[in-house]
Amino acid sequence: MEKIITHDQIKQAAKEAFEEASKVTGGKNADYIPYLANIDPNLFGLTVTLTDGTTYSFGDTEYKFGIESVSKVPTAILAMIQHTPEGVLKQIGADATGLPFNSVFAILLENDHPSTPLVNAGAITACSMVAPQGDPQEKWKAITGNITDLCGSAPQLIDELYESETATNFNNRAISWLLKNYNRIYDEVDMSLDLYTRQCSLGITASQLAAMGATIANDGTNPLTGKQVFAPEIAPKITTLIATVGFYQHTGDWLYTSGIPAKTGVGGGVMGVMPGLFGIAAFAPPLDDAGNSVKAQAAIKLFMQKLGLGIFNNEKVTIISD
Ligand code: GLN
Repeated sequence: MEKIITHDQIKQAAKEAFEEASKVTGGKNADYIPYLANIDPNLFGLTVTLTDGTTYSFGDTEYKFGIESVSKVPTAILAMIQHTPEGVLKQIGADATGLPFNSVFAILLENDHPSTPLVNAGAITACSMVAPQGDPQEKWKAITGNITDLCGSAPQLIDELYESETATNFNNRAISWLLKNYNRIYDEVDMSLDLYTRQCSLGITASQLAAMGATIANDGTNPLTGKQVFAPEIAPKITTLIATVGFYQHTGDWLYTSGIPAKTGVGGGVMGVMPGLFGIAAFAPPLDDAGNSVKAQAAIKLFMQKLGLGIFNNEKVTIISD
């Protein structure tokens, strides 16, 4: 089936989805990271960026919030750029854990594997893989430079969040050393963990995340800057990882009901990717029991429903400017 959608229809669907999701209540801010507990729970924004760069934003889309686990996506991409997708499969893996993002148990169950770069264990391993080995300053530059290229603008470290997270990341320290025990960390342990903690503490906006999603949807070329950030063959690999584990233990329910691969973070951000069509991002701090933003999920689901879209729908979708 062929389906044609106009820019105007996209704008209207985003506006209605934003307005309807504004009324959705429930969830609560992440409280295991003190900084996040104190963010205004009423903040809410939604941005859609098409693969031609056209962008529609509603609400608090320029508010800088903690990127948190959405940062696992760009660093997985960076690891694929530097080590190839096969290298990432070999050194980390691509299996969903079906367990919470910070599960220690998952490492044991996966036969000592981190299992996927989109849960804490695999993300810490991905940070350890970033080149150049043994040089935290240059590794950090590579991580933030890659995020800047994917978004078309720079993220900004939220110092207070970084301090808050560093002071309370006991579980992640345990994960890191367990990985070391299994030879699944490829650089200095504390440095790899620190890079992970720092990347989670980057401030990002919903509009920046939508641009990142659009860059992935556009096969690695940022539609806002025209820069090719990664090779086209990486796009389906990262989208596969997002589709299979983006919502942790709720990933199946999410994909089944929303129709769009998306990645969440406990800062309240959700970034979705529709290959060839658009990136979408929503942000609202209150989370469900798995650490996924309640309002952001509602907004993205409503947007997809209004346009009748789904990644597995048997239709060829074309977006035209009215
Ligand atoms: N920095 C957080 C952690 O490691 C990120 C978790 C998340 O966003 N799901 O616990």
